[in-house]
Amino acid sequence: MRVLIAEDDPVSRRIVEITLRNWKYDVVPVADGKAALEILNGENAPRLALLDWMMPLKDGPQVCREIRAEPAPRYTYIILLTTRSGKADIAEGLEAGADDYVIKPFEAIELKARLLAGSRIIELQDQLLEAQEELRHQATHDALTGVWNRAAILDKLEIELQRARRQTTPLTVMMADLDRFKTINDTYGHQAGDVVLRNVAQIMSGAVRVYDAVGRYGGEEFLIVAPGCDVLTAQTLSQRLHSHVGRIAQAANHPAASVTCSFGVVTTIDGNVDSDALIRAADDALYRAKTNGRDRIEVAAAAEAG
Ligand code: GH3
Ligand code: MG
Ligand code: MG
Ligand code: MG
Repeated sequence: MRVLIAEDDPVSRRIVEITLRNWKYDVVPVADGKAALEILNGENAPRLALLDWMMPLKDGPQVCREIRAEPAPRYTYIILLTTRSGKADIAEGLEAGADDYVIKPFEAIELKARLLAGSRIIELQDQLLEAQEELRHQATHDALTGVWNRAAILDKLEIELQRARRQTTPLTVMMADLDRFKTINDTYGHQAGDVVLRNVAQIMSGAVRVYDAVGRYGGEEFLIVAPGCDVLTAQTLSQRLHSHVGRIAQAANHPAASVTCSFGVVTTIDGNVDSDALIRAADDALYRAKTNGRDRIEVAAAAEAG
């Protein structure tokens, strides 16, 4: 763990530095409050800070106040080093935003224990943030295929549609449904079906452009949101998706992987349509692709796109 030490007295700074290095901390030493603030607000900042109370440019409590004033993605655990031991002083330090304090001259055993407590808090917060990130991922992604889930892809559609409207840019929506997927399950089993779904999701994600989004809309149905994609680009993109999915058979080297996909495609030239109407139009086009023999792309007429 990296620890910032801000202490203006060179001898004291050196002592703390050596002590902490002996305890296997990485030490970042500075001589005043301004330098401390710059490092703590910078990139890849130490998460633990030992701040002297009295320092030039900015004192310890002032550094605390300025750190706490900025919303930070990661918490900085601050310990004030002080010769002041009055209750009012300690209260002032804690009110300024310090988490703890050590009175100088410090006893090594006490400083060590307090640093350990700080490290524990930092580690706990990291675990919490990781868990939060994991939950966020789970809430927005489909567990089987890893692409956006239905709610998330619909959110994306809404956001991109608003952007298209604001900027008068086109937007394409594609509804893709695997053909006769039930027979894959019936013939090779549900697990083989799951593998195919995962493969299809992966192939679709790899075939779209970086700013396009692929989501699992339902069981074997995928929704693709392609911002800035006009009618001509939609043609290229849908053909690429269609042919890539059709080619999984060879790639996966499993008979169950042989699957085709039907596509319903709709493009709005300026975003002046609501998302329900777009989805309905893509769905209608998809239905036509199914009734016209499957394994094909059908494009909604401009009128259908609203
Ligand atoms: P069509 O060409 O008309 O779309 O025929 P289909 O068989 O694909 O359509 P249908 O709606 O009759 O069946 C969809 C099948 O998709 C049935 C269902 O068991 C399967 N399915 C849905 N979700 C999953 C899943 O998560 N895993 C697996 N293995 N199968 C799924
Ligand atoms: Mg000092
Ligand atoms: Mg199907
Ligand atoms: Mg279906």
